[in-house]
Amino acid sequence: MRVGVVGAGIFGMGAALELRSRGHDVTLFEQGAIPYENASSTDVAKAIRRVNYAPHHPYAELVERSGRKWAEWQRRLGGSFYFQCGQLSIYSESELTGGGDALSSIEHLESTREEFRTLTRDQAAERFPQLAFDDTDERLIFDSWAGYLASGQAVSDLARLAKGEGVALKEHSRVLEVNESASGVDIATENGSTRFDRVVVAAGPWVGRLLPSIGESVLISRQQMAFFRPVDPAPFRAGVFPGWSWHPKTQGWYGFPLLADGNVKIANDMVGEEVDSDVERTNTDAFLEEVREFAARRLPELAKGKFLGGRSCLYTNTPDGHFVVDWVPGMSRTIVAGGGSGHGFKFGGSIGEVVADAVEDRANPLGDLFRIGDRLNSEGVSRRGRM
Ligand SMILES: Cc1cc2nc3c(=O)[nH]c(=O)nc-3n(C[C@H](O)[C@H](O)[C@H](O)COP(=O)(O)OP(=O)(O)OC[C@H]3O[C@@H](n4cnc5c(N)ncnc54)[C@H](O)[C@@H]3O)c2cc1C
Repeated sequence: MRVGVVGAGIFGMGAALELRSRGHDVTLFEQGAIPYENASSTDVAKAIRRVNYAPHHPYAELVERSGRKWAEWQRRLGGSFYFQCGQLSIYSESELTGGGDALSSIEHLESTREEFRTLTRDQAAERFPQLAFDDTDERLIFDSWAGYLASGQAVSDLARLAKGEGVALKEHSRVLEVNESASGVDIATENGSTRFDRVVVAAGPWVGRLLPSIGESVLISRQQMAFFRPVDPAPFRAGVFPGWSWHPKTQGWYGFPLLADGNVKIANDMVGEEVDSDVERTNTDAFLEEVREFAARRLPELAKGKFLGGRSCLYTNTPDGHFVVDWVPGMSRTIVAGGGSGHGFKFGGSIGEVVADAVEDRANPLGDLFRIGDRLNSEGVSRRGRM
């Protein structure tokens, strides 16, 4: 089939690679250069972790498959974008009482995955003196399988792979319309119109511009991050220092070890204010104050370093926080893929199969959760962060 893919973020890139590997003739349209500077996927670091995904749930399977694929891509490309530096997840005990996905995933992973274990406060303090723990209400979980993806670099390297595999990359080609007819589906750009058998719209936070019915149901939120340059980088290097997260009841802060540019990123996962997808990617003064206050309390050595300010990035939140991979309502040749809801990047290695199966009309139980059904009709969007 001739397949057009709109958007070279991780959903579109993953889809294009998988569709091409199945022999389809694939064209990938991107409104800017790849990676596009304002895309949600273009960033210095995204966490990849297993905890919080309920056992036997599609995400639990998809994230481990994705990890294997990221490792394979990294080997093939000779890249440097997948860092299994471990992640320390810090929960409040009160948040875990009463069960839920976090607790069931902890119990399951601890009994089945040797990389995964609970640390005592003393063990954590000895191993990670860069972090200041609370004495009382914290449960400390370390998974050495987890880590982070240098996301902008990864998208850039995957574009190289896609090109080498024969995907036609159309950069600086903003898609203006997607129109179906009986014989095909047309993608219109300023340079004219091209006909395809199927189209995948993976436009991230811009989805509503092309598909208003989907855009009405997702909430685009501004998510803020900041950067510090430590006085002494050595204790913050990946391997010495892990990715980490303080869970929602403890305000949703998370961060990474020293990145390639010598900086340490701290961000907040609580769903931020609703914005337009073309909003400036700046910070609020309140956030900059809060992140400095948080770092002073929880990462005191880092806070002594240089504060470099920050920027923001957008979540595309669905009402239930699950992705969307399905035929667009009322269309028969156009699939929408996205709704990353703050946790989509890590699935870049496995989401392509789900999208390609949808395009080929093949059953895939791992994708059932992402079918639209009546999911987009519900009132309101969950504002719980997910990262
Ligand atoms: C601050 C922040 C932190 C995050 N942290 C994590 C994390 O730690 N772990 C994790 O797994 N996930 C994380 N996420 C979520 C993850 O980044 C997203 O779920 C994922 O990147 C979404 O990918 P996408 O392809 O749907 O969208 P995007 O990456 O935004 O890609 C969409 C692409 O479509 C292009 N496009 C749009 N409209 C058009 C058009 N009309 N024509 C042509 N091209 C078009 C855009 O330019 C863009 O390149 C985070 C997100 C943010 C904002």
